[in-house]
Amino acid sequence: MNKYTPVIGLEVHVELYTKSKMFCSCSADYFGKEPNSHVCPVCFGMPGALPVPNQQAMDWCLQIGMALNCQIPLFSKFDRKNYFYPDLAKGYQISQYDQPFCQNGSMVLSTGKNIGITRAHMEEDTGKLTHAELDGKKVSLIDFNRSGVPLVEIVTEPDFENADEVVEYLKRLQQIVRYLKVSKADMEKGDMRLEPNISLKKEKEQGLPNYKVEVKNINSFKFVEKAITYEIERQKEILESGETPKQETRGWNEFKNETVSQRSKEEAHDYRYFPEPDIPPLRWMEDKIHKLKASIP
Ligand code: ADP
Ligand code: MG
Ligand code: ZN
Repeated sequence: MNKYTPVIGLEVHVELYTKSKMFCSCSADYFGKEPNSHVCPVCFGMPGALPVPNQQAMDWCLQIGMALNCQIPLFSKFDRKNYFYPDLAKGYQISQYDQPFCQNGSMVLSTGKNIGITRAHMEEDTGKLTHAELDGKKVSLIDFNRSGVPLVEIVTEPDFENADEVVEYLKRLQQIVRYLKVSKADMEKGDMRLEPNISLKKEKEQGLPNYKVEVKNINSFKFVEKAITYEIERQKEILESGETPKQETRGWNEFKNETVSQRSKEEAHDYRYFPEPDIPPLRWMEDKIHKLKASIP
């Protein structure tokens, strides 16, 4: 039997708890509120409505990056990530593509191992779909209260080799955003959502495996651990049979304790990223960056 080393990289979304949303003045405090009561033409995605970036959210995103030892380029911009899904009324999400606020950071684990932080960027959350039954009919209900809430995505290099390292990183990341007082990072409320990317490297294989499996939207450290353990076993079996696991996005089914295939993985070019025309590019003053850094507890 071959020996395999797991290769794992993480994408984590952290919802910021600013007073207002990312690009409009609606309240971002949406949890448990009457559906579609925290909305306006901007976060409803009405044509022609203009976004205005939330200064507090951008400052907090920069501070998350600083706490993760990232470089903060003085020039940055927002981009449109285009895709069709009912929870995204505009048909695109305002995000950051090639010039994120924060890049090239690191976190050192208790074992001394260094985890590379590829980037931390600013984006907006989507609406929330609920699948229900109304008058005997299956329906999907949509609530746009969460649409446009500030979200920071933190992406690591594929530097983890096991679930323990992943869980340590995640717990410390949660601690960091709580110390910074930028997010409650309450997993049960979806303030922090975890996406491990997993592949297996054969004993003498050079470089990264030529596939990866992404497990989407996990909301607990326990599930992330279980999903990684499950994927390692599943992929091992496929590799042992002489095949390559499919590059795809899977979900975690907490009742069956297994990952399930959701869709084949999209590529960056599928999103047709382009610079957000409604928000001018940003240039930070060095002085501002120093002040933000100095104010980190
Ligand atoms: P995508 O564009 O498909 O999202 P990225 O290059 O942005 O891919 O990487 C997403 C995440 O997947 C990162 O955390 C990265 O470290 C991780 N990753 C990249 N290649 C692999 C691999 N072969 N196995 C596991 N994780 C990987
Ligand atoms: Mg990605
Ligand atoms: Zn709004």
